[in-house]
Amino acid sequence: MNHGDDTDNATQRLRQLSTYFREHPVTGPSVGHAPSRTPAAPLHLATLDHITASYAEVVEHTRSANPDAGPAPARADAVYDWAREHTAHADEAVQQRAAVIEYRQYLEHAIRAGDWRKVIRPHRCPECRTFGLMWKDEMQRVLCTNTRCVDRDGFSTTVTLSRLAHEHVAKQKSLQQVSAT
Ligand SMILES: [Zn+2]
Repeated sequence: MNHGDDTDNATQRLRQLSTYFREHPVTGPSVGHAPSRTPAAPLHLATLDHITASYAEVVEHTRSANPDAGPAPARADAVYDWAREHTAHADEAVQQRAAVIEYRQYLEHAIRAGDWRKVIRPHRCPECRTFGLMWKDEMQRVLCTNTRCVDRDGFSTTVTLSRLAHEHVAKQKSLQQVSAT
């Protein structure tokens, strides 16, 4: 029954957001007679912007790494496979950067879907290495809830999703190196 539906990655998350957007159109069906009564149109527009911006970022990074990448895929959620394919022979630094972008977008997609607990909590705080990270929407940052993890002014540590993604990718890479030796 389970044909990879439990895969949780950027592709899957972006597919869910795109599907959600298609099923909750902002303007309603163009052939329909009843006007759309979608109550949260600004939210849907923000989701569309999010999808568009995510896709554009990956396309731009891929093209700058490989000008011969050719046309980007029509489907937004196909962009990660396309990017990986066309940076497969790029420098390690480029591939690492691509992996960081993809993982950060995975976090962003999940947060947008209201799933921050699932994707943020498994990470340790980059400063104090403990668990207990929380997503703070108003700051657009991740907050460490360890009361002893504060800066010089006594403010709680906050980190960006980019930093979390960078730490994650670096850790995966060092694990691969360990298992390769
Ligand atoms: Zn901390």
